[in-house]
Amino acid sequence: MVGMTEHSGSSEDGGCQEAIHRLYHYLDGELTEERRRAIQAHLDECNPCLEAYDFEAELRSIVAGHCREQPPSTLRDRVAAALRSEREAAAGRRIGGSTPGRS
Ligand SMILES: [Zn+2]
Repeated sequence: MVGMTEHSGSSEDGGCQEAIHRLYHYLDGELTEERRRAIQAHLDECNPCLEAYDFEAELRSIVAGHCREQPPSTLRDRVAAALRSEREAAAGRRIGGSTPGRS
């Protein structure tokens, strides 16, 4: 009986946010194999996170290819939008109204 994925989805609140956050470490190769597998499992069943991961991975490969050049703003925009929508979906859009981050 190994088919059961033992992902501790007890944290429904920040499940995706956690996953997104870990994606960066995942991409940086800073995670243990155990963590990687946990993330991989999450990506397997969570499309939004998978897409975010895809964007991030693409972004990084571009950055790596162009070294100091900044990635095209369109791609950065897509990544930011993907992360934002993921975050909003996870937060249940509790923030009513579009408030651009004004410092
Ligand atoms: Zn997710």
